[in-house]
Amino acid sequence: MIDLRSDTVTRPTEGMRRAMAEAEVGDDVYGEDPTVEDLQERVAGLFGFEAALFTPTGSMANVLALAALVGPGQEVLCESRAHILRAELGAHGALTGLTSRTWTNADGQVDLDAIREMHAPDMGPFFVRTTAISVENTHNFAGGTVLPLDDLQELRAHADAVGCGVHMDGARIWNAHVATGTPLASYGAVADTMAVCFSKGLGAPIGSAMLGSAEQIAEARVRRKRMGGGMRQVGVLAAAGLYALDHHLERLAEDHEHARILAGACGADPDLTETNIVVVEVPDAPATVSAARDQGVLVGAVGPTRVRMLTHLDVDRADVEQAAVVLAKILAG
Ligand SMILES: *Cc1c(COP(=O)(O)O)cnc(C)c1O
Repeated sequence: MIDLRSDTVTRPTEGMRRAMAEAEVGDDVYGEDPTVEDLQERVAGLFGFEAALFTPTGSMANVLALAALVGPGQEVLCESRAHILRAELGAHGALTGLTSRTWTNADGQVDLDAIREMHAPDMGPFFVRTTAISVENTHNFAGGTVLPLDDLQELRAHADAVGCGVHMDGARIWNAHVATGTPLASYGAVADTMAVCFSKGLGAPIGSAMLGSAEQIAEARVRRKRMGGGMRQVGVLAAAGLYALDHHLERLAEDHEHARILAGACGADPDLTETNIVVVEVPDAPATVSAARDQGVLVGAVGPTRVRMLTHLDVDRADVEQAAVVLAKILAG
């Protein structure tokens, strides 16, 4: 089976498994796991943050980060298909007690006019106050689109002017970096907090991180424990993240090239495929999914007429070319 349903389906490589097996470990609740410490320091440094916190999932990193910026009954603004709203099962409302309002952009982009108009200052006991704006880079449900740095810098200036925070859900920030050459630190510079995943295109079996100030991370450590996310000898997992940063970052360019091949085969414009996610309109998504499965290709339906495919470490050029032939034939009828 050629599995294009997600970039989370990768299995750890031999080298990654070796790094995991050989990792030095300690009890991370005591702050004594040297490999976790290494990963946290390294990832904070890459993005120019004071500190980072290893988490089991990107969803937990997002919850911890937004809890640092938005109090109960305050609001975060985000794009209407943001992962934090659509795919984290209400965690932010349920656990943090925050509220949200959205703008809509087909490509998941920042709409500064809408954000300016929605901004709600502190009005005491009368209105919900905006305390953060969350952006997603790359934007998952918009099809792996990149948020240009210029837009993010303008957003930062707005947030500074009105005194609210900026969170970046950077589950796939690595893809944005490789696709555009924008330094990771430039993305870090526009955000107060970030969430990044090692378990997507980077190919680790588990692991994400929240990035923020030393104070925010100290608080997040407490919240993480309260949520049941205090972990022990997880250097074996952090080692996978370190290995991924060393070996799987630059190769994301291959995934992007593979995604363009798939887009072309499905009759989409390859130039609109910016990273490793391809979303195409089809007449009948469930029928396309099942016809592809019958021919050894797994793709996902993300709507009645929309099919989504992701390229990753475990699909090579030959797999992609074969999937392209299968999908082209199905879509030709
Ligand atoms: C995958 C993903 C996350 C985190 O998901 P987990 O499954 O909780 O690790 C967060 N944001 C985006 C945009 C994602 O694609």
